[in-house]
Amino acid sequence: MAQRYQRVALIGLGLIASSMALAMRRAGLAGEITGTARSRETREIARELGLCDQVFDTAAEAVKGADLVVLAVPVGVMGALAQEIAPHLAEGATVTDVGSVKQAVIDAVAPHLPEHAHFIPGHPLAGTEHSGPRSGFAELFVNRWCLLVPPPGTDAEALARLRALWEDMGAHVDEMDAAHHDLVLAVTSHAPHLIAYTMVGVADDMRRVTDQEVIKYSAAGFRDFTRIAASDPTMWRDVFLTNREATLEILGRFTEELFALQRAIRTGDGDHLHAYFTRTRAIRRGIIDAGQDTDAPDFGRMMAKPKSGG
Ligand code: NAP
Repeated sequence: MAQRYQRVALIGLGLIASSMALAMRRAGLAGEITGTARSRETREIARELGLCDQVFDTAAEAVKGADLVVLAVPVGVMGALAQEIAPHLAEGATVTDVGSVKQAVIDAVAPHLPEHAHFIPGHPLAGTEHSGPRSGFAELFVNRWCLLVPPPGTDAEALARLRALWEDMGAHVDEMDAAHHDLVLAVTSHAPHLIAYTMVGVADDMRRVTDQEVIKYSAAGFRDFTRIAASDPTMWRDVFLTNREATLEILGRFTEELFALQRAIRTGDGDHLHAYFTRTRAIRRGIIDAGQDTDAPDFGRMMAKPKSGG
């Protein structure tokens, strides 16, 4: 595959950045990869793993001479980092990010960047509940969507180059505006995460009542919630604080539906429940048909021997 950038600077070296480093290396997409992270420990691990050609102590050093800079830090710190790197950006460099929220990132980052840089926000819809530099893998983006949110008037060549990079890492690329992105993600990711956090919180309270049986007999539904609810607390705090309006809108609708289902259960309205579950089953089918999940039993989990129960 063709080299897309001469020098890529990764700011933050967690799950997403380390996966990008491995994917870019595997396909030869970057002449050189530099990186930095907040803590000495993460920088040391990145050096030990050989994620980057050079790991710097500061973001300012890492971006020097880079033709692509990727902000791969929690959404809440992107503005401060943009301010820090702005004076050190090379002429014509592209600055992108991978944050889970787009409008807040644009508001925080864009005002700091110089005229000579191209700012093209992005969001790969790919992740796991793991974080940190050891959690990355080169295949993370394969067959996943990456949404780019180019501001009006974005340089066409810079956009095409960034799109090609994501495609070469295995992703499908789409473009949309920031408000639409934030609403879609509130439905497909942000509200579901909050619901999972809540359900696991409730189960944790119940654990005291049921004497650990919630954990011991953990069934598929609850286990899937616990996986989602194990996601990084800093990242998710920032997502909810920065995608507030859209998340609250979806949670409002969710609460109304929940009340309707609660009422159907109370009044014994089986027709309502059956019709509802038939409709939702069709959504699952649509996701599988779109190649975004597998219909293997148990979500394709390896059939590990259960420690207890069954
Ligand atoms: P992560 O594994 O927790 O890594 C975050 C990285 O950011 C760490 O290397 C951390 O450094 C660094 N960092 C934090 N604060 C910093 C600061 N002030 N200055 C410099 N570096 C700082 O996170 P991630 O999962 O890769 O997420 C990164 C971004 O991708 C987030 O904006 C998130 O919303 C987005 N995203 C995540 C997922 C997902 O599922 N995880 C999916 C799509 C997009 P230390 O290790 O030294 O603390």
